[in-house]
Amino acid sequence: MINSFKKYTWFFKLRWKSYTFGVLALIICAILQVLNPKIIGTIIDGFIAGTLTWQTLLFWTALILISSLAMYALRYGWRMALFGNSTLIESILRNRLFSFFTRMDSEFFQKYRTGDLMAHATNDLAAIRFVAADGVLTLTDAISLGGITLFSMFFFIDWKLTLFAILPLPILIIVSTYLGKQIHSRYRGALKSFSSMNDHVQESVTGMKVLKTLGEEKEDLSAFKKNTQKVVAENQRVYKLKAALNPSIEIIMGATYVIALLVGGNYVQIGRISIGDLVAFISYIGMMQWPLLAVGGLINTLERGSAAYDRVEALLAYTPAIVEVESPYHQALNGDITFDIQSFTYPGAAQPTLTDVSFHLEEGKMLGVVGRTGSGKSTLYKLLLRDYDQYEGRISYGDIDIKEYALQSLKEGMAIVPQENFLFSTTIRENIRFGNPQLSQEEVEKYAKLANVHEDILSFPEGYDTEVGERGVSLSGGQKQRIAIARALAVGPECLILDDSLSAVDAQTEEAILESLKQERRHKTTIISAHRISSIMHADEIIVMEKGNIVERGTHQQLIAMNGWYADMYQKQQLEKKLDGEAV
Ligand code: ATP
Ligand code: MG
Repeated sequence: MINSFKKYTWFFKLRWKSYTFGVLALIICAILQVLNPKIIGTIIDGFIAGTLTWQTLLFWTALILISSLAMYALRYGWRMALFGNSTLIESILRNRLFSFFTRMDSEFFQKYRTGDLMAHATNDLAAIRFVAADGVLTLTDAISLGGITLFSMFFFIDWKLTLFAILPLPILIIVSTYLGKQIHSRYRGALKSFSSMNDHVQESVTGMKVLKTLGEEKEDLSAFKKNTQKVVAENQRVYKLKAALNPSIEIIMGATYVIALLVGGNYVQIGRISIGDLVAFISYIGMMQWPLLAVGGLINTLERGSAAYDRVEALLAYTPAIVEVESPYHQALNGDITFDIQSFTYPGAAQPTLTDVSFHLEEGKMLGVVGRTGSGKSTLYKLLLRDYDQYEGRISYGDIDIKEYALQSLKEGMAIVPQENFLFSTTIRENIRFGNPQLSQEEVEKYAKLANVHEDILSFPEGYDTEVGERGVSLSGGQKQRIAIARALAVGPECLILDDSLSAVDAQTEEAILESLKQERRHKTTIISAHRISSIMHADEIIVMEKGNIVERGTHQQLIAMNGWYADMYQKQQLEKKLDGEAV
């Protein structure tokens, strides 16, 4: 139990003042709490003996009032202190986790699914927060209230009566701990089936179009029904135990009261204790219930918190493969790109994805990359961006190995419009200036015009203020691609990579974008890959990839003359274009 708290030492040290205050307040509260039954007992005894005067009655009741007011203030105080702390530890850990996520490499995100990471950031942190507040609270309260009440029963009322009455109480601890654990494990099962039902809803709603097109609604509905039945069954299992827990507590407490009344009643008769004492004693038994039940809860809270803490720690201990060298170059990227890879295999893959791929790209030139799907184009970019490190070979900018650059310099110098682009749930303006938030409206518009999407944006009801994403307007594939291009251009990168980023726009728009790109990026390096030859035919050099190799290279003219895959592809696409034209 103490071990579970050890992990939090750093936090207790950080907030020692409020913890000390909280714990002291709890202890004083416990002392005040045991005073009241004793006062009531004294008043009753006074009544019975006929010795109670108005003044003494007023004095005792005033004391009860004052102690109640003091308890109010103290309870308010410790709640503020302890629960305020618990939100603090959660936010500290959440920030650590988030900044950790931002530092991780591709391999990390391939290893951990989004859902798992979300679970760490929500459930695990909540469990940790629970220990920092409820854990500390329960432990202090259970020890102080339980201890002080027991002490009062033992020394202020009657030690023998106390021993008899508390006989059934250990059973209460055992039952509540055991049932609590069982309830929690069943509850976890229920939660799991609930989340799998949730996933089902999400996937079906997202894929509803596909589902309907394939006529799978009925099958999906019956699968869903099974899912919901499971949720109901799992929840019933939880309620069964919950229903058993409360009556068991009542039976045990009832037994305690029976013993106290039988033995205590007898003691009153023989004059060992007073009636007032017996009344106070019965109140004390009631006060013992909470701390005892809390012990069961505490053990479970600590176990959960401890496991959650370990999971978060294990996650944070992950060291990314991509790290900076001892004293990296902080200068901006410039110079030619030399790509010289003998072999690259994805972590965990059996076969290398790239073998003997090398090219030299002069600063300010444009490289076109074409090739069948799966031939390794996107992989090539991942290496250029240093998403992966473990390859045989060398990649350099201006004669400096990319591994020697500071990661920040590398990221600032390069921008990619990925094949599967992603826009944030904010306005179009914020999306475009995402990498460069200081940009003015004029500059944002300049990049939107370069990406040929300005007119589209103006046609939206709120122009640049239009929200995109789940809650916003639905953009077409081509509009998304062009906004993503504007966003990449807005960073003003030394090297820009367009990975199949024009696939969803028509040929005419594509031509316009390429033309403005050429103007804008006259002295900067650009790499474009595409399935449409027309996208890259004006590049200074073109490479053709196949199964992770470069099979052809040269200018458009040279490649046509070679009469290989490229020339073949070009002719086919020309023919298609012609046929399309005739069809119109
Ligand atoms: P496309 O034109 O369809 O975009 P591509 O040329 O960009 O294709 P890549 O994405 O580079 O192709 O993929 C090349 C090969 O590497 C494929 O066989 C793919 O299955 C494999 N691959 C891609 N990403 C990974 C990964 N993270 N782990 C293991 N293998 C991968
Ligand atoms: Mg690709």
